[in-house]
Amino acid sequence: MRVDIVTIFPEYLEPLNVSLVGKARARGDLDVRVHDLRAWTHDRHHTVDDTPYGGGPGMVMKPEPWGEALDAVLAAGGPSGGADGPGRGDGARQGGSEGSEGPCEPVLVVPTPSGRPFTQELAVELSGKPWLVFTPARYEGIDRRVIEEYATRADVREVSIGDYVLAGGEAPVLVMVEAVARLLPGVLGNAESHRDDSFAPGAMARLLEGPVYTKPPEWRGRGIPEVLVSGHHGRIARWRRDQALARTAANRPDLVEQCAPEELDQHDRAT
Ligand code: SAM
Repeated sequence: MRVDIVTIFPEYLEPLNVSLVGKARARGDLDVRVHDLRAWTHDRHHTVDDTPYGGGPGMVMKPEPWGEALDAVLAAGGPSGGADGPGRGDGARQGGSEGSEGPCEPVLVVPTPSGRPFTQELAVELSGKPWLVFTPARYEGIDRRVIEEYATRADVREVSIGDYVLAGGEAPVLVMVEAVARLLPGVLGNAESHRDDSFAPGAMARLLEGPVYTKPPEWRGRGIPEVLVSGHHGRIARWRRDQALARTAANRPDLVEQCAPEELDQHDRAT
């Protein structure tokens, strides 16, 4: 998968060199290119913002640098492309693009609190795409015409990571790239690891994962649920489902309410 990120803070994306995502990049499973938006400015101060039409507080990101940056990134042609744009770009490039698939339509992910919620379902969908381009903004966001312009050339998704407002889109990009990257084949040591995650598709799709335990069997006088060492797979599965249901009912009753009757078995209903 190829990921391009255009930002005024390339250094903010440095955590993408660490842990699972960093290893996936080093192996070449993930080709991440970070571009400095200011590389596409032409004035002495590398200006990327201006006052809003209609007045009001805050500044708005200018369309020209975004247009030039996205033109250059999209012209690189996705997974097979190599262009990185003018000199200041690509502060955190790593990894390769072997096995590339040639030009393809990118998904342009625009982080914004006014977007659709980022969910595990969307992470799964994006993990199947060969090329994601992220446009983390600052100030009051990007001039609307940029979004309209690229909707004619890319599959644009305006996405929110939650009902709160951050100072910029870089943290949301870190969140989204990690959620997507861990779903790529070979990224998790055990491919089954995300099967039972909260929100994972399947029988437990709307249930949060229940509590987990590891050795030692006793810690500060606290034991572990006996069933987990019973060796009885059926009882363990039942216990896990009961725990998941109880935790979901306590922390996210809205999810339990969304369960269709056929998603709950007889034992669930009695719980
Ligand atoms: N005035 C905007 C509003 O109320 O919708 C908020 C702009 S915010 C200060 C600046 C940028 O941070 C946004 O354009 C977006 O890129 C990012 N951002 C902030 N909160 C976000 C969230 N919950 N989800 C995704 N991106 C967010």
